Amino acid sequence: MRVVYIVMFFILGCVFGSFYNLLGLRIPEHESIIKPASHCDKCGHKLSWYEMIPIFSYLFLKGKCRNCKTRLSILYLFSEFFCGVLFAISFYSFDFSHNFAIALILSSTMILVTVSDLTYMTIPDRFIVIPSILVLLIKLIFEGPREFLFAILWGILSFLIMFMIMKFGELIFKKESLGGADVKLMFLAGVSLEPFLCLLVIIVASFIALPVSLLLLVKKKENIIPFGPFLTVGMLIIFFTKYSSQEIINFLLQK
Ligand SMILES: [Zn+2]
Repeated sequence: MRVVYIVMFFILGCVFGSFYNLLGLRIPEHESIIKPASHCDKCGHKLSWYEMIPIFSYLFLKGKCRNCKTRLSILYLFSEFFCGVLFAISFYSFDFSHNFAIALILSSTMILVTVSDLTYMTIPDRFIVIPSILVLLIKLIFEGPREFLFAILWGILSFLIMFMIMKFGELIFKKESLGGADVKLMFLAGVSLEPFLCLLVIIVASFIALPVSLLLLVKKKENIIPFGPFLTVGMLIIFFTKYSSQEIINFLLQK
């Protein structure tokens, strides 16, 4: 039975991923998310239902518009496929628990942030504020007011730590190293994860970002890479591994 749920959440995730891709592309541009209907950005060709089936349509059309043959962004395939995978892993890791809901929220944020940050180098506030509020509500309902207040506290603390890292970076490199959105994202990390784990998020994100940025520097002479996607990936890795702060501290102290 579990495997049926996993497949079901994978398919659901693909559908949501397709929608998140649309949100990630339209909201930063202040476009309506309902009108116009899905179309090719180049020639305006309106997509029919069989051109909007997640993953399949992209593969079937070989990643090109049916009308003008313009290459479609690989982000479509990325958001659909990874959102499916993340929804499936979320269920696999947490079953029907409130942490499953938090995993879905963090997965959704990862897709939204990545699409928006890679396309426009910006992350709209609502992509961070709405998930933070949802996670806090879940904590309040399922874990009680005490955990809820702690979550807010850790959120503010993580925000401040990242803010100081940003200011420190500006002082050393004499230029902007992190964006304001990266600092705000740490609030979401703080409310979702335990305080010590938030610091790990920054470390994990930096470890993944380093080789990627070196590769881009060598290949495309690009020295600015958005950090937001890496932060959200870091959050997911830490959340899915289910370690507690205490376990990490014990490991570090070799207890
Ligand atoms: Zn077209």
